[in-house]
Amino acid sequence: MAGAPDERGPGPAAREPLQQQHVGCQVFPERLAQGKPQQGFLSSFFTDNQKCQLMLLKTLETNPYVKLLLDAMKHSGCAVSKERHFSCEDCNGNVSGGFDASVSQIVLCQNNIRNQAHMNRVVTHELIHAFDHCRAHVDWFTNIRHLACSEVRAANLSGDCSLLNEIFRLHFGLKQHHQTCVRDRAILSILAVRNISREVAQKAVDEVFESCFNDHEPFGRIPHNQTYARYAHRDFQNRDRYYSNI
Ligand SMILES: [Zn+2]
Repeated sequence: MAGAPDERGPGPAAREPLQQQHVGCQVFPERLAQGKPQQGFLSSFFTDNQKCQLMLLKTLETNPYVKLLLDAMKHSGCAVSKERHFSCEDCNGNVSGGFDASVSQIVLCQNNIRNQAHMNRVVTHELIHAFDHCRAHVDWFTNIRHLACSEVRAANLSGDCSLLNEIFRLHFGLKQHHQTCVRDRAILSILAVRNISREVAQKAVDEVFESCFNDHEPFGRIPHNQTYARYAHRDFQNRDRYYSNI
């Protein structure tokens, strides 16, 4: 479908989040130390929280990456509900979001998510972690390679790197930029949540990179843009239909 409803036209507002996204994810942020979620009735009017909720609703209903991931999680027995599995909160620093595996909840940083396109990418990124959490016994806390694998997949499949990739390809012709971007982002995401050296994070990413970069589930391909994501969603629905007819 032409004219994706969740993408703004070109301009400063659309470009702004690109500088922010390299720290866009926290897996297991220390939420208790950051205060309680803002869920009060009055505070939800005309606030970052209300805007966050509205953008989240639009993302869940219209974004093809997200719709595919929600279908895939439901198919895997982990149906996602907006009320139960998402929380709009203020976050420290310039973090955009996180996946709290201890309560299976995605945190959306209402003070840092700037527009609908940014919300789409954050929700997609965190849903990939949630999908990995659902389908596999991920040892997030003690196995750095498990975390590294999910960060590689999230950076590769969420579109975090694809938008930049297109810009770079257009302007500089860097064919390997996508892989470099995925690797760099995965390392930065790990460093944001683990008190380890850059060398240790790089080693973990390099050890898992090939297999995790080539694991495209549930997309079946790298969805470089929303059109690819729509095709992937259609294919997934057909796959689902096929299985359900057996
Ligand atoms: Zn992440």
